[in-house]
Amino acid sequence: MTAARRERLRALLAAQPSPVDALLVTSLVDVRYLSGFSGSNAALLVPADDADDAVLATDGRYVTQAGAESPDLPLVVTRAVAAVLVEQAAGRGLAQVGFDETTVTVAQVAALQRAAPRTRLVPVGPVVPGLRAEKDDVELAAVAAACRVADEALAASLAEDRWVGATERQVAARLEWRMRELGAEAAAFETIVGAGPGAAVPHHRPTDRALARGDLVVVDFGARVDGYHSDMTRTFVVGPPAAWQQEVFDVVRAAQRAGRAALRAGVACADVDAAARDVVVAAGLGDRFGHGLGHGVGLEIHEAPQVGPGATGSMAARMTVTVEPGVYLPERGGVRIEDTLVVSDGSSTSLTTTRRDLHVLV
Ligand code: ZN
Ligand code: ZN
Repeated sequence: MTAARRERLRALLAAQPSPVDALLVTSLVDVRYLSGFSGSNAALLVPADDADDAVLATDGRYVTQAGAESPDLPLVVTRAVAAVLVEQAAGRGLAQVGFDETTVTVAQVAALQRAAPRTRLVPVGPVVPGLRAEKDDVELAAVAAACRVADEALAASLAEDRWVGATERQVAARLEWRMRELGAEAAAFETIVGAGPGAAVPHHRPTDRALARGDLVVVDFGARVDGYHSDMTRTFVVGPPAAWQQEVFDVVRAAQRAGRAALRAGVACADVDAAARDVVVAAGLGDRFGHGLGHGVGLEIHEAPQVGPGATGSMAARMTVTVEPGVYLPERGGVRIEDTLVVSDGSSTSLTTTRRDLHVLV
């Protein structure tokens, strides 16, 4: 599986404006994607010519793990993973070595250059993150599993936990515990539970405020399974909704539906954003929707592609992206609805399936 990914990378390296002899991969998620290795200190050298094998480097703590996760790759054991791989590249006659300047510091590049003074280090941009945007079958299965865990954890918590009167922090902790019980390695990110005024803050951090009658409650959470993330938001109301709450909710729900309907291979990322945003703007709430519509989800919770008003590029089949419009009214509350979807040729399919209506907590 990872060998096929390295083959796709080689094709991309050959198509670079300034072709390179090899790519030095230092971002740990990129290393994991291309090698299967998930330790915390690693680098990978991928020669552009497929007659030449890729080499994985990690330190002594991870030799056993590397053997299990990347049995097909030769291993270099060192703490200075990137520098030693660049030295090896020089020794193999690989004179031009590409790197992703969006993930490497100036100091790291200087250290690499000292390690291999005659090597030309070529910034090639986020080539591997671009590759990672389109998921293979193994990845789609992992994202779907992470979505299923989140759906099931929310259903179980709604059925069995007391929400009204519980604090934001308690609601978050119970959801995270349930995800772990259902097989998640971890929460995908710090669970957001925002009640009342907290619902008006898109990235609200849970507090000891208790959920009380009249609150809108925004819950944004996800699970991580096999390294892959899910991302979902549902909005609740404590007790019967006020007219303004139902109105805002209906606008966001219609926007989210429009965004999901627009999502398919070939459509510009900015157009997916616009499909949802137009609904919010038409309702006179455009200035209350202050973030992009969504983002790619995979080995990272936020990854390519970006789905916002200024986004470039277009959707491709097998991308997993979120659609998450929101409307936030400072001090009063807010509504966001978010799903993780997989893009296909004529349409898209939501991998998170919890109902999207305004669930009344009692
Ligand atoms: Zn989210
Ligand atoms: Zn999200």
